[in-house]
Amino acid sequence: MKILVVNCGSSSLKYQLIDMAKDNSLAQGLVERIGIEGSILTQKVNGEKYIVEQPMESHQDAIKLVLEALVEETHGVIKSMDEISAVGHRVVHGGENYAESVLIDDEVMKALEECVKLAPLHNPPNITGINACKALMPNTPMVAVFDTAFHQSMPDKAYMYALPYELYEKHGIRRYGMHGTSHRYVSQRVAEVVGKPIEELKIVTCHLGNGASCAAIQNGKSVDTSMGFTPLEGLVMGTRCGDIDPAIVPFIQKAENLTAAEVDTLMNKKSGVFGLSGVSSDFRDIEGAIENGNDRARLALDVFHYRVKKYIGAYTAAMGGTDLIVFTAGLGENSKDSREAVCEGLEYLGVKIDKEKNNFRGEERLISTDDSTVKVFVIPTNEELMIAKDTKAIVDAL
Ligand code: AMP
Repeated sequence: MKILVVNCGSSSLKYQLIDMAKDNSLAQGLVERIGIEGSILTQKVNGEKYIVEQPMESHQDAIKLVLEALVEETHGVIKSMDEISAVGHRVVHGGENYAESVLIDDEVMKALEECVKLAPLHNPPNITGINACKALMPNTPMVAVFDTAFHQSMPDKAYMYALPYELYEKHGIRRYGMHGTSHRYVSQRVAEVVGKPIEELKIVTCHLGNGASCAAIQNGKSVDTSMGFTPLEGLVMGTRCGDIDPAIVPFIQKAENLTAAEVDTLMNKKSGVFGLSGVSSDFRDIEGAIENGNDRARLALDVFHYRVKKYIGAYTAAMGGTDLIVFTAGLGENSKDSREAVCEGLEYLGVKIDKEKNNFRGEERLISTDDSTVKVFVIPTNEELMIAKDTKAIVDAL
């Protein structure tokens, strides 16, 4: 069975064709500048690039080109579109409606529309992508895999904010969390690696990329996570501030004479390690600037590491201990210095990093010492495979 995994942004679209017989990716692609001059599709097969530059006015144009690229005689990987058994769509927000992935039908589409108010930037392009695929592949089953779904298992004490209760009832203001597919994938994978049933494990997963979040996973279920009503809460990120005193918001609005929307942009796009360092939102640039003696870059990374450490401590307390800590995503998989800095001082919890074992990047490995009672792992995330697996399970059951 071959499954197409689609992740639609407002002007971009990522895709992978996954062969479920071997859980391996046959082709990966990215379409950029959809609806903008200079539209481009880049597909990679076995490391070899195939580029198509052609105007794409809509997501439907983009999907059409994706399907053409996949069946292309020399650069494609399948003979006909009929080989695609199903499409798995990454959908950012499923609200409280979906605690797991779901076969897309008219009712699901209606629910996705209702969730637009919760994710006004992300759900609309996801919906557009689904509609574009449905138009071109009307007989192919489609599955929605939500970023929020895994965290729906959180208890109310973890997801409620201490605001007037009516705001939850009226507007759905609560913690939803994001990166659920990644936290689920790495927690299931680490349980496989240590050879224990996930139902017997307490795991803190640290998804440290441009967007970053931690999750507390007990008995295979998310019991808390650092992103909240939106992806802005929690850890410091590339350009997002994460946790701040909420009273700072009206204060900045007044002091800097900004509108609410402008403060929102400031916190989402101009803050984080970018705002603190004044250098970049990319952690590689921050590390480079530190090597050149840039103090504000050092400060930005210190604040970032300290926040992750605090969340590990908080989630260990929430679960009454932890057996495993997992690092994943761009920084978590690649930066030995960040992993070391985050774990430094956690020896009292039973966390001891082995510097030799930690000295690598981008692989699945144990990085703690033999006598570390908490085992620390790097598990490269694979959200696409998780989406494909969910899609297969749902389609198999039809
Ligand atoms: P992601 O959002 O998961 O794609 O992660 C992107 C972030 O990972 C960027 O800020 C990159 O700077 C960071 N990253 C990727 N590779 C490295 C590396 N070798 N060292 C440090 N940071 C890295």
